[in-house]
Amino acid sequence: MKRKDRRKKKSMTKILLLLLVLIIGVIVYVFLNQKQADKKAENSVANIASKEKNTVSKNSSEKKVLLSKDENHLPILMYHYVTSNSDELPQDSNNIDIVAFENQLKALKENNYKTVSAAEAQQLLTKKEKLDNKLVWLTFDDGSVTMYTRIFPLLKKYNMHATSFIITDYVNNGQGGILTWDQIKEMKESGLVDFGSHTAQHFDLGLQTAEQQQEELLKSKSDLDKELNQNTDMICYPAGGYNQDTLNIADKLGYKFGFLDPGRNGAIESDAKESDGLLMLPRYRMLDTTTPNDLLKMLEQSTVYNTENTIEK
Ligand SMILES: [Zn+2]
Repeated sequence: MKRKDRRKKKSMTKILLLLLVLIIGVIVYVFLNQKQADKKAENSVANIASKEKNTVSKNSSEKKVLLSKDENHLPILMYHYVTSNSDELPQDSNNIDIVAFENQLKALKENNYKTVSAAEAQQLLTKKEKLDNKLVWLTFDDGSVTMYTRIFPLLKKYNMHATSFIITDYVNNGQGGILTWDQIKEMKESGLVDFGSHTAQHFDLGLQTAEQQQEELLKSKSDLDKELNQNTDMICYPAGGYNQDTLNIADKLGYKFGFLDPGRNGAIESDAKESDGLLMLPRYRMLDTTTPNDLLKMLEQSTVYNTENTIEK
C-alpha cells in the first residue's frame, strides 16, 4: 500500500511539474508575444512620426520665409499711359509706347522680378518678412482708359500686378480717355490691379488751403471706398504737390501710403523704405525712352541691398 501510494505521489508530482512547465511556457510565450506587439506598435508610431516630420520639413522648405536684418527696400515705378494710338490719348512724355512697355514687362519676367500687389507691397514696407529679393511695384497715375485697353491685357498675359491711382471726379463725370467704374471694378475683381486715390479733381494739393485739401482727399476716398467696397489707404499726390497739411490730413483720414512724383517738390528717384515715411514714398519715372537695360539697372540697387540683408532662408 505504502509503495503504491509513493508511486502515486511520484506520478502526481510529475504531472504537477509538467503542468508548471506548461504554465511557465504559456506565460513566457504570452510575454514575448506582447513585447513583439509593443515593438511593432512603437515602430509604426515612429514611422508615422518620421513621415509627418518629412511632410513638415517639406512644407516648410516650400514656404521659405525671408527676413531682412534691417528694413526692406522696394523700387516703385511710376507710369501714366500706355498706347501707340494717337486717337486714344495725346502723345506726351507720360505716354509710353505699347511695344516699349511690353519689352519692359518681358525684361522683368525674364530676370525673375516679381511684381507685387498693393497688399504685398504694404506688408514689405512695414514688416521684415519678404517674398523674394527681386521685387518691384508697378504704379499708374491718372486712371487713363489705356489701363484697361492696353495695360490690363498685358498684366493678364504675364500674370503681373499693378496699382492704379484714380481721379474720382473724372470717372464720375465720364470724362473721355478715363476709365469707367465698370472697367475699374472688373480689373479689381481680377486680383491683378489695386486702386488708390489720385484725389477728386487732380489739383496740386501743395497750392490749396487745408480745407480744400481735406475735401479732395475725403471725397475721392469715400467714392473709392463705396464703389470698390474697400478701405482706400493709398494717396498719390497730383503732380507730386503736397505740404505738411497734406500729410496731416491724409493721416487723419486713414491714408497710410502716399506717393511722390520724382523731380517734383524735391522728390528724388530712389527705393521706397519705411524709415523715409510711408506717406512720402519715392518712385522711379518710367519714360518711353527707358530701355529694358535702364529698368534692370534701376532695380539692381534694391535687389543687392535686399539680398545682402537677408538673414533666414
Ligand atoms: Zn496725375
